[in-house]
Amino acid sequence: MILIDSHCHIDGEQFDEDRDQVVRRAREAGVVAMLNIGTGDPHSDDFRRAVAVAEKYENVYASVGVHPHDAKLYDDAAEEHLIELAKSEKVIAWGEIGLDYYYGHSPRDVQRDVFRRQIRTAKELNLPIIIHSRDADDETVEILTEECSYEGFRGIMHCFGGTAAMAEDLMKIGFMISFAGNVTFKKAENLRDAARVVPLDRLLIETDCPFLTPVPFRGKRNEPSFVVHTRSFGGTLFDRRGESRGRDHCELSKDLRIGREKGCSGNGIMC
Ligand SMILES: [Zn+2]
Ligand SMILES: [Zn+2]
Repeated sequence: MILIDSHCHIDGEQFDEDRDQVVRRAREAGVVAMLNIGTGDPHSDDFRRAVAVAEKYENVYASVGVHPHDAKLYDDAAEEHLIELAKSEKVIAWGEIGLDYYYGHSPRDVQRDVFRRQIRTAKELNLPIIIHSRDADDETVEILTEECSYEGFRGIMHCFGGTAAMAEDLMKIGFMISFAGNVTFKKAENLRDAARVVPLDRLLIETDCPFLTPVPFRGKRNEPSFVVHTRSFGGTLFDRRGESRGRDHCELSKDLRIGREKGCSGNGIMC
């Protein structure tokens, strides 16, 4: 089985003890690439650390971008710092950015402004964007509809938690839809309904580790190798032979080249 983990956080301290083994286990499980999402305080070393992990391991890539929790920390200096880090060959996306009204760690108007500003920065840098949305789906779709209608747009809605209708709206704009381990949870029939409307050439899976550990390891620390369990659990959800380009998700992943190669077609990190 060949897979990618389109969204993980392996630079965090939860992995300080055994990061080498975590990356090795992922590779042994067939995870050919991992996208390590930088988060944290843009005035600290948090993002430098995320990029350093990507630079250390051949099959790990990174993104930079300020999470809606930290939107209140975004300013010119933060932006300059992240743009500088994005010069690394290993930084292939901007995110995760978006709106999180569930926790509300930053005021909503600040979240909205910083969200729009970062979409525009990513556009200037020609980087795909990675979106986080929680309890703010209508406004997220509204902002994305307004901001993302430019040529060459590429984006991923990560840890999809919305309805099938929202998935369809986002795909119209050009988004890939990524499902995390919570799609395996018993009560997540709504997520599985949404996954069914996403064609394989628009569908990604991710761990969002160390959180959202899939069944059967729910409760333990999540890690990129566990994306295999999300894939297996999905069964026919993620393995629909005959659909799309006649390939299932595993085969599709072989086509995946993460990078900024010119002539990259499709959306985001999937070529
Ligand atoms: Zn997120
Ligand atoms: Zn994340």
